[in-house]
Amino acid sequence: MDLLEYQGKQLFARSGVAAPAGEPAASVDDAVAAAERIGYPCVIKAQVLIGGRGKAGGIKVAKDADEARAHADAILGMDIRGPRGEGPFRVHRVWVEEASEIDSEYYASVILDRSAKMPLVILSRMGGMNVEEIAESDPDALVRLHVDPLLGLTHDDAVALAVDAAIDEDVVEGVAASLVQLYAAFNDFDATLIEVNPLIVTADREVVALDAKVTIDGSALFRHDELAAQEDPPEDPQERAAKEKGLTYVKLDGNVGILGNGAGLCMSTLDVVANAGGRPANFLDAGGGSKADAIVDALEVITSDEKVTAVLFNIFGGITRCDEVATGIIEAYGHVDMDVPLVVRLDGTNSEEGLQLLAEAKLDGLHHAETMLGAAEQVVELAGK
Ligand code: GDP
Ligand code: MN
Repeated sequence: MDLLEYQGKQLFARSGVAAPAGEPAASVDDAVAAAERIGYPCVIKAQVLIGGRGKAGGIKVAKDADEARAHADAILGMDIRGPRGEGPFRVHRVWVEEASEIDSEYYASVILDRSAKMPLVILSRMGGMNVEEIAESDPDALVRLHVDPLLGLTHDDAVALAVDAAIDEDVVEGVAASLVQLYAAFNDFDATLIEVNPLIVTADREVVALDAKVTIDGSALFRHDELAAQEDPPEDPQERAAKEKGLTYVKLDGNVGILGNGAGLCMSTLDVVANAGGRPANFLDAGGGSKADAIVDALEVITSDEKVTAVLFNIFGGITRCDEVATGIIEAYGHVDMDVPLVVRLDGTNSEEGLQLLAEAKLDGLHHAETMLGAAEQVVELAGK
């Protein structure tokens, strides 16, 4: 789960990381009221899950209430694209914070290095630009330290890292303290990424997090109710419904609905459909050990997408029992308006019983294929262009 900047900064506040004080606002009037409380100059910042907001016009300094109103009015409702054309992301909220006087812009992050199976702390004195740009223009300016998760990041480690990164001497202690706090936040909130770009040194030589990009491990959200509650539901109706039902669903732009059990089988099903000349409408993993209920839910989500003109249901029964799957399909025909053809390939545990159940049910628009390849060709044919 990705946090918006202001949610990240609220989390920093709980870990002692210094960040400018501010307030979120969802309307122009609320933004002006917040600016009046915070005082001037203040900064109005678009809250979207993408970087490069500054360049896109989503961050503006206001020196009085009139400017605060004009900036909030311009930023709220604006569409922001990422540096690589990602998005657009519509701005529904701004964060109004006291303006900072910037002496230097550094870069600090803690990421989960999956290949090393350890957190990795990265520090650079070249903040402000994005990390890929730093890596390209001056790779030596990025210093790295893997942290043993059982020992954590010590203050001495952090000081050594700051010295390595040629951080201004008078703020080495301050930067090191910030790194230790960021690492604590990373650990305490089960983050997989915390990036502060820029970590600034103010005119008063204070070290302050001016930006916050935080990703929390979705599998750990059950330990952080207050964070889970902040998550906005997905805007896409199918993705929203899938999330509510606890299904793993990703929307794609084709017309062949895909349902499989297990992420690997789903991925290969997408490939064979693409090879057969079709365009998958989604990825939906009904999960290992899929029960009838999950299948009813899955078919409901897939067929609610108007672009879907045929569905391929590819099951390899291991723990999943094919007769259970067949029961799910039959139930789905009773509950869901199945107005598109469904091609089923059922193989593995109890496949004969499953196929027997399907044959007896005589469902309209249900086709059976023996092989995965045959199923893909058939569904592409039925889906049409
Ligand atoms: P991003 O563009 O989405 O990464 O947003 P940031 O929060 O990193 O802001 C981008 C840039 O705006 C920063 O690198 C700063 O140069 C500038 N900026 C943001 N807040 C302030 C502020 O309070 N004062 C000043 N002078 N500049 C700011
Ligand atoms: Mn930034």
